[in-house]
Amino acid sequence: MSDRKIPLAGVIGCPVAHSRSPQIQNHWLKTYEIAGYYVPMHVEPQDLETVIRSLPKAGFVGANVTIPHKEAVMQIADKVTDRATLMGAANTLIFREDGSVLADNTDGYGFITNLHQGAPDWKPNGGPALVLGAGGACRAVIASLVEAGVPEIMLSNRTRERADQLRKEFGKRIQVIDWVKAGNAVEDASLVVNATSLGMEGKRPLRVPMDGLQTSCVVTDLVYTPLKTDLIQAGEDAGCTVVDGLGMLLHQAVPGFERWFGQRPKVDEATRAAALA
Ligand code: NAP
Repeated sequence: MSDRKIPLAGVIGCPVAHSRSPQIQNHWLKTYEIAGYYVPMHVEPQDLETVIRSLPKAGFVGANVTIPHKEAVMQIADKVTDRATLMGAANTLIFREDGSVLADNTDGYGFITNLHQGAPDWKPNGGPALVLGAGGACRAVIASLVEAGVPEIMLSNRTRERADQLRKEFGKRIQVIDWVKAGNAVEDASLVVNATSLGMEGKRPLRVPMDGLQTSCVVTDLVYTPLKTDLIQAGEDAGCTVVDGLGMLLHQAVPGFERWFGQRPKVDEATRAAALA
């Protein structure tokens, strides 16, 4: 087989060493016996466009994009999907045969697929969701919850203006709640989502009181370091179904792998173990 037929992909970031994408993608390459490679690429912001334009010529079929390039790639790509436009950021690039670059965002897909897999009894139209945060990842959460048919989203963020902005963009199903009052909304929620960075290793703890959690509520956290955040622990203590954030990371990687390597990979225990290794 000619070298040119071996597909290459990678993750572009700055820094990039923290990314678990190489473990996940290489695990799938091995599992499905695909002759391909997936590598981490440290790229400084000023070099981003040159690198992206060069990669297809070097045999790359696509790439993931992480901090701080998720917004900048939208300006470089030749085509941006509606999803990525809605989210204002892209995490997956597809290099097409004509040399053009397509930018997509799979975070919303990853979030909702993880939720359905981890909480199969959760019904989107079963009641209001309480979402904490209003940053980049929260946008993906809101978009996917609206699309799934959640009737009401109670949104709370430290900086209220950012939540107000999301309400403007996503419409009246969003109800903005002051950050200091977020705990009062917990008892009405059938889904609680932490989309802030609070609770992550090295960050402050999430202090929104969770004593109102109903057993029927599903609790999920986007933070996955640690896997068992205080929120996930509070959910377990209240007898709720809990869904940790690692699954979102795994599921958001699926569409890219399928597009680049032609095989839809499964997210299973072996994939989780590979990501944690
Ligand atoms: P981001 O755009 O920087 O947003 C950070 C969010 O956290 C904002 O809502 C911010 O509120 C809030 N926040 C930060 N410090 C706070 C504090 N001291 N008190 C109250 N709120 C605070 O980050 P992001 O990209 O949305 O990511 C958010 C989290 O999701 C991160 O932990 C990230 O690792 C995780 N994530 C996980 C996945 C996954 O696959 N599981 C995917 C994407 C992201 P303000 O608006 O007031 O600053």
